[in-house]
Amino acid sequence: MALTIHGYAAPSATTPLAAHRFERRDPRPDDVVIDILYCGVCHSDIHQARNEWGGSIYPMVPGHEIIGKVSAVGAQVGKFKVGDMVGVGCMVDSCQQCAACGEGLEQYCVEGATWTYNDKDRRDKLPTFGGYSERIVVSDKFVVSISDKLDPKAAAPLLCAGITTWSPLRHWKIGKGSKVAVIGLGGLGHMGLKFAKAMGADVTLFTRSPGKETEARRLGADHVVLSTDPAQMAAVTRQFDFILDTVPSPHDLNPYLLTLSLNGTLVLVGLLEPIEPAVQSAAVILGRRSIAGSAIGGIAETQEMLDFCAEHGIASDVEMIDIQNINHAYERMLKSDVRYRFVIDIASLKKAA
Ligand code: NAP
Ligand code: ZN
Repeated sequence: MALTIHGYAAPSATTPLAAHRFERRDPRPDDVVIDILYCGVCHSDIHQARNEWGGSIYPMVPGHEIIGKVSAVGAQVGKFKVGDMVGVGCMVDSCQQCAACGEGLEQYCVEGATWTYNDKDRRDKLPTFGGYSERIVVSDKFVVSISDKLDPKAAAPLLCAGITTWSPLRHWKIGKGSKVAVIGLGGLGHMGLKFAKAMGADVTLFTRSPGKETEARRLGADHVVLSTDPAQMAAVTRQFDFILDTVPSPHDLNPYLLTLSLNGTLVLVGLLEPIEPAVQSAAVILGRRSIAGSAIGGIAETQEMLDFCAEHGIASDVEMIDIQNINHAYERMLKSDVRYRFVIDIASLKKAA
């Protein structure tokens, strides 16, 4: 008998999120049942709830920065036990056969990973529902351990904002002596600053928001450039080895490309739409520069990032909200008014709507 779950869902692309009841599957032998405590609010939740990437499935229960306690395990699960503090990020399954899965890069599974919400389970073909809810049932391969050294509230955003910034910084071998810039100080951006600093880089923030400068320095920026000021942009021409671009909507890449040094790379993590306006190829040719992209990170890499955070005392700066305030939180994120990740206290689901 499937479990009836309380949560919050987007009924359609144009309707605010509201209280919603739905069913979770009975645990399979490899499943972990998790009572959710906290769930971070990612800008991807807004894109998908509003069908900005197309193909959204409704009703949609968003949420892929999930922290909770194990309340039951299937017969084959050896890695987790009742009471463990665990996390679930953006993926809940993948083919487990292809070369990418074999390398621990499940997010690049050739068949496509199964996303935590707004997708179909690859075994029973039923829709997946995310962490804006009281409980989730997930295969143990896609569950990670949360150290008791981490504050579980502040750890929730590590499951997406954390790994999405950690993975490209590691892949492009950022370390001591690297000159790194991060574009946009939101959920991803603030983790990008913290990680780049912890890896030993000299770190710059590009922001459109003059009011964020002091906080950016507290979060790890050595320098702050107001991207709307052409003089400040010109002053950093050919400066950076690596730029992490977290901007969630189309924007002109050309001024940023000119700030890359010889062989520098700009990595897109925020933009899923076509790049507009057009990229001036001269900016990439004359300087042997690259534009690349990166998606979240694999499960083993996510555990490595969480363990690094526990060891180095790194977590997100969070603003806790009740689930009843989720629509207001979305509006604030769209105005870049988030310091620096909203996290839903799932206990609030029990309050009257
Ligand atoms: P967020 O918290 O809303 O932060 C985005 C920041 O970008 C804003 O705070 C703002 O910073 C800046 N910004 C917003 N609009 C801008 C514009 N039009 N031009 C220039 N800068 C702008 O969003 P997030 O949760 O960090 O997510 C960022 C993007 O990454 C989203 O599109 C999300 O879907 C995507 N994402 C991708 C992956 C992946 O695997 N690749 C994973 C997670 C999320 P300032 O005020 O400092 O300018
Ligand atoms: Zn996300």
